[in-house]
Amino acid sequence: MADWVLEETAVVDVLEADRPHRTGAYVILDDGVTVVDPGAARGIPRLVEGIRALGADPGDIRRVVVTHVHLDHAGGVGTLVRDLPRATVFCHPRAAAHLADPGRLLEGARAVYGERLERLFGAVLPVPAWQIRAVEDLGRVAAGRHALRLFDSPGHARHHATVLDERTGGLFTGDAVGIRYDPGFTGWPKAYGLPTTSPSAFDPPAMLATLDRLERLGAVAVLHTHFGASPPAEAFAFTRRGVEAMLRLLDRFGDRALTERDVRRAWEDWVREDLEAQGLGDVDLDPLGEDLRLDALGLYGYWRRRREAAGSPAAGPGS
Ligand SMILES: [Zn+2]
Repeated sequence: MADWVLEETAVVDVLEADRPHRTGAYVILDDGVTVVDPGAARGIPRLVEGIRALGADPGDIRRVVVTHVHLDHAGGVGTLVRDLPRATVFCHPRAAAHLADPGRLLEGARAVYGERLERLFGAVLPVPAWQIRAVEDLGRVAAGRHALRLFDSPGHARHHATVLDERTGGLFTGDAVGIRYDPGFTGWPKAYGLPTTSPSAFDPPAMLATLDRLERLGAVAVLHTHFGASPPAEAFAFTRRGVEAMLRLLDRFGDRALTERDVRRAWEDWVREDLEAQGLGDVDLDPLGEDLRLDALGLYGYWRRRREAAGSPAAGPGS
């Protein structure tokens, strides 16, 4: 349940919604314990066990670094630090208010997940404001000999930071550099990668610019929250390929008024073609079902916002 990935750096499978190799929390053991993206509240007991299994004391968690506030990454921060008054939570400046007061975030999540929200992620406790430190673009957090540098990384969300460990060259990408679908999650013969959107704020051109910027950092490994490590060239390539395909797909529709269903169908068709091209033509798409739904929702949301910004009369309020 906990595996070393780089020097003093391990990943703990937090078994999101009981699914193995779906979501991992990263742990750095130097000058106490640092956690990057602890995951949902429901997985916090797993994280704590994992830290113990690594021979460390969960009571010695001194820092929690959050890539962004979505519940599968940071829903459990409040639960984790409830008994750790000396721990500091570091995040993107736009994320700080959501951690202190998760009300609006929960509303948004409920709109996406409905009644399943609690069951999937557990309760979301606020983080005491005095434990939160907003870190600007290029800011550093020291964790013993590890220097964690935060990069503003819009695209998936406007409050997303990506974290480079300057000691190991590990890049904690949250949802900025796609999802690596691990065989332990899909049951497929090899890993597969796609970008991941968010329903309300996905911005494909911003994501492409973020990918260019992060790739230039020369990381030695991309450490995905979902799930495991990728060689950087691979992770950047599959994420870029998917985002470019999404944009082409919208172009192909031209000026037509779209429905969410149109977008979902076209996206699934592309994913099937891509799987075929990657030598995974025979696999069952089911493990990706929920993600493909959310990806299509994100892409559809982007299309609508873009259309509204262009002042199209067909896209008035309520459309
Ligand atoms: Zn995520």
